[in-house]
Amino acid sequence: TSTVMQALSDWKPARRLHVMLASTSYDVVIGDNLLARAGALLAPKLPQKRAVVVTDRTVAGLHLPALLDGLAQTGFSTSSVTIKSGEASKNLDTYMDVVDQLLEARVERRTAVIALGGGIVGDLAGFAAATTLRGLPFVQIPTTLLSQVDSSVGGKTGVNTRHGKNLVGAFHQPRMVLADTGTLATLPPRELGAGYAEIVKAGLIGDAAFFAWCEQHGPGVIAGDREAQAEAIRRACAFKAQVVGDDEHEEKPNDGRALLNLGHTFGHALEAEYGYDGGLLHGEGVAVGLGLAFRLSARLGLCPQADAERVVAHVAATGLPAELGMLNRRFSAETLIAHMRRDKKMRDGALHFVLARGIGQAFTSSDVPHEAVLDLLRDEGCAP
Ligand code: NAD
Ligand code: MG
Repeated sequence: TSTVMQALSDWKPARRLHVMLASTSYDVVIGDNLLARAGALLAPKLPQKRAVVVTDRTVAGLHLPALLDGLAQTGFSTSSVTIKSGEASKNLDTYMDVVDQLLEARVERRTAVIALGGGIVGDLAGFAAATTLRGLPFVQIPTTLLSQVDSSVGGKTGVNTRHGKNLVGAFHQPRMVLADTGTLATLPPRELGAGYAEIVKAGLIGDAAFFAWCEQHGPGVIAGDREAQAEAIRRACAFKAQVVGDDEHEEKPNDGRALLNLGHTFGHALEAEYGYDGGLLHGEGVAVGLGLAFRLSARLGLCPQADAERVVAHVAATGLPAELGMLNRRFSAETLIAHMRRDKKMRDGALHFVLARGIGQAFTSSDVPHEAVLDLLRDEGCAP
């Protein structure tokens, strides 16, 4: 019984966040060991005790049996579809394969599609759910930190085409999101760090108190402290849910979802320079981009330099690349700027950035002078 007592005292209740949108509302449940309880958690929210789980090969090997067991415990009948891991699977061919397999499994309008995996599986399975039979109930069970704090909340689904990333898709909100912190134990440390960058971003955009929390607890999140992870996920999701609730379909040009691109103009340029799948993770590009966005803001006289240095210091303290000099390459300032101009979020060819007046006070700006960006990048060690 002493082990039972121990287990009980270790047990922490799951956190629950309610996401309210104009079109619908749903819960994000965050905690340890949720896969085993998935049947009980999901049954009240789904029209039928039947689901097809979409996952990738890596996650299938690690976490699919626990989920299928958890669903079977409350009498769900399930089948699964497994795709190859990696961004290369997020395309129309794999999408067609998944849809075919859903139809072969004879899904009905009430059968749920459950995405078990990172953002790739979530985006692809979500798009299949949005379109198969004109829309099936959808559940997100994100297993990367990035997907737990970012892609699983907000309802964007889709695939890449040869014209670019995420160019075909749909808004399709989940019935529920289960963020099981236990799944993070198997995640490679670099992937954990990349997800953490999007957490820090949330604080920097609009929640200075959360950024201060990150300075204190970020190292715990990275080290695998599940309580710290659950709290970080809850706060980051709450922030994103609030932004999304205000701008569900990304129609506001200046505030709303556009603010979520803090650090991303620089980040995307770095990703483009490495080539996608070329050794720099999206979150690592964002990590460097956060510091650059704050230093640019300071250079333009908008934000205290001390805030910019606080950002860089915290990012570096969690083991993420925090400055261009920490990446294993040298960059040309003009080439990076050329990438920024090609970014699909650049309107009218203007250099469009999310800047800040301080920590937690981000805003969008579409008239950043070319020279200011050039000077910054040179001072950061780029070749002219
Ligand atoms: P991912 O889905 O490729 O996962 C990263 C890697 O980790 C993969 O190899 C995967 O197999 C593996 N993995 C996943 N969970 C694991 C676990 N628990 N243990 C061990 N390995 C695990 O990548 P990601 O970073 O989660 O998501 C990136 C995608 O998300 C991109 O395609 C991006 O466009 C998309 N995204 C979408 C939104 C949105 O709003 N829909 C937002 C941000 C990003
Ligand atoms: Mg991002």
